[in-house]
Amino acid sequence: VPDNDILLLTNCSQVLTMTGDGLGVVENATVRVEDGRIAAVTPARDTVPITRAESGHVPAAIDCRGCVVMPGFVDPHTHLVFGGWRAEEFELRLAGLTYKEIAQAGGGILSTVKATRAAAEDELYERGLARLREMSQWGTTTVEVKSGYGLDTETELKMLRVARQLGEAGLATVVPTFLGAHSVPKGWNKSDYTRLVSDEMIPAAAGLARFCDVFCENFVFNAAESTRILEAGKKHGLLPTIHADEIEPSGGAEVAARVGAVSASHLLQPSDAGLKAMAQAGVVAVLLPGTCFFLREAHRSPVARMRELGITMAVATDFNPGSCTLLAQPLAAQFACIYYGLTIEEALRGITVNAAKALRLDAGTIEPGKWADLVVTDVPDYRHLVYRLGHNPVRLTIRHGQVITRAA
Ligand SMILES: [Zn+2]
Repeated sequence: VPDNDILLLTNCSQVLTMTGDGLGVVENATVRVEDGRIAAVTPARDTVPITRAESGHVPAAIDCRGCVVMPGFVDPHTHLVFGGWRAEEFELRLAGLTYKEIAQAGGGILSTVKATRAAAEDELYERGLARLREMSQWGTTTVEVKSGYGLDTETELKMLRVARQLGEAGLATVVPTFLGAHSVPKGWNKSDYTRLVSDEMIPAAAGLARFCDVFCENFVFNAAESTRILEAGKKHGLLPTIHADEIEPSGGAEVAARVGAVSASHLLQPSDAGLKAMAQAGVVAVLLPGTCFFLREAHRSPVARMRELGITMAVATDFNPGSCTLLAQPLAAQFACIYYGLTIEEALRGITVNAAKALRLDAGTIEPGKWADLVVTDVPDYRHLVYRLGHNPVRLTIRHGQVITRAA
């Protein structure tokens, strides 16, 4: 009788456990999963410890010859839920229009706000689910999902409810983030809106979201306003995270350190003092090289300096309709290496164990007791995961011991 509660991944060329400081490579290994959790990782020369299989059950087994098996990808920064797309704006940007000119032509975040307010909750859910399915095909088993295209209490809560429902669909673990302070809506002045976010939206979002985020830029929410919003979030139990120093140096890295943020994203132009403060405070840097590429930004995140300071680096897609339409974490890892200068090891840790740290989750590794969130890839050596540009290496995506996605 095949026992579906026991799964063996046998003959894996390499298992990347991501334990310790490196990739934790185990060559020629078997991964044993029991009741959805990792039971053991054993090299082929050792016998797999038999526990429950002794009672006459035959464990389900998948032959992983020629495959690298690693933790399911964790995507710690996405804007997965939204109405509409912005392809017209993309075309205008390619033709040379600036961010400001596009905003004046009715593009930018506020055009997605209009479409998201107009969309019914079940429509946002169906569209989000289709994107989540695509992410799963690229190996993602955990994804952070931000609100921020409502900019009114009703729509922000609608987006957070959709994020939670997406988590219940079982394709991936979803971590909802409240991002009411993504932009200032039409018809509002900034101080009134900052007050609305802090006093009305945050208390209402507290039961639905795990993180509170803010778009910190001098011309959006400045350092003082961002601090105020993140502190209000903390009072209601929301963990702080921040969009920091993307478009110009705005003191975002300093705010991240000051409020004790779990992570800070973008960081194209952080000050050196800000980076030092982040290192001191243990803030995880979330690198978004796909966005940098998509927008053809002049700056890159200073990864050599981050490495020198010992800052933990995670990598995310930043999937959103305006500044990066990338859903695939393997491609984000490729951009991180080729475009930002991460090592292959840093990039692969960046989309697994370090991405989990950016979400304060105990995940992204393969070790006994942890959930069996795994990807089986069709490459024999981990270097190929970055080397094979644009290739989708994912054959199977496994979440909590169950095969969620199987490549055609
Ligand atoms: Zn973002």
